[in-house]
Amino acid sequence: MIAVTWGSATDQGRVRARNEDSLLARAPVFVVADGMGGHRGGATASDLAVRAFHAILDRQKLTARDVATAIQTADDTIRARAKVDPSVSTMGTTAAGIVLFSEEGDDYWLAFNIGDSRIYRLHDGALTQISVDHSYVQELVIAGFIEPHEARTHPERCLVTRVLGGRGDVIPDFWMFPPEPGERFLICSDGLCGELDDDVIGELLASSPDPQDTAWLLVEAANDAGGSDNITVIVVDVDGSESSGLEVPTVDRDRTGEDPLPEAASPSPGPSVP
Ligand code: MG
Repeated sequence: MIAVTWGSATDQGRVRARNEDSLLARAPVFVVADGMGGHRGGATASDLAVRAFHAILDRQKLTARDVATAIQTADDTIRARAKVDPSVSTMGTTAAGIVLFSEEGDDYWLAFNIGDSRIYRLHDGALTQISVDHSYVQELVIAGFIEPHEARTHPERCLVTRVLGGRGDVIPDFWMFPPEPGERFLICSDGLCGELDDDVIGELLASSPDPQDTAWLLVEAANDAGGSDNITVIVVDVDGSESSGLEVPTVDRDRTGEDPLPEAASPSPGPSVP
C-alpha cells in the first residue's frame, strides 16, 4: 500500500469552555468529529464516533463496506447512549474523514462526510474542497440566496443539516479516488474553516513540508483569528517523489508541548500508485 505521513492537532480555542471535537489519525484511518449537544453531550458524541472507527483500524483487509459500517455503528451507538442518559439526550456529531484501502491490488481513498467538518485536498499548489457541507448556509449557497463568502458570517452558520446521532437515517456522502504522490489532505472541524477563508487555509497548508508542523500552524492561525470554536485538524501527505509544486518556506520548528504522531508504517521503500 502507498505510504502516507500525517500530523494532527486539536485545541479548544479561545472562547469555548471545553473541547468537544475528537479525532483519529492513524493510517489507514483519518477522522475528525465535531460534537454538539451541551454539557457532556458534544464531547461524548464525537468520542463515540471516533471509537467506531478505532474498531476497523486493525482489519487485515479494510473495505469501503467497513467504513460504511463504522459510520452506521457510530450513529447507532450515539443514539443508544442518548436514549438512556438524559444528560446527553440531545447530542450529535459531525464526522468527516479519509480511509485508505486496497481493492484488487489497487489503492484508493474513500472520503466520507456527515455534517460541516471538511476535507480539502492540496495538489500542484491548488486547494480543492472535496466534501460538501451539510448545513443550512450551504443550502442557501446552492440555492443562490447567498454568496459563499457570506456563509461564514451568516447568523445561522452553525445550523448543521445532517449529523450522527440525529433523527432519521444517517446519510453520508462518499467519494472514492486513487491516491497521487505529493497530494496533501486536510480534514478539519468548522473551528478552522469558520475562522480562515480558503485562500489562507491553502497558503498555510502549503507552508511546511512537515504535516505535524502544518497542523500546529493551522490551529495557531485559527486561534489568532479569534478561536471562537474548537479547532481540530489532520494533515495527511501521500509520499512520493513527484513535486507538489509548492513553495516551502522555512518554518519555526521551536514548538514544544506536543509529541508528533508516529509516521505511517511503510511496507516498501517507495510508494506504489495504481
Ligand atoms: Mg465546531
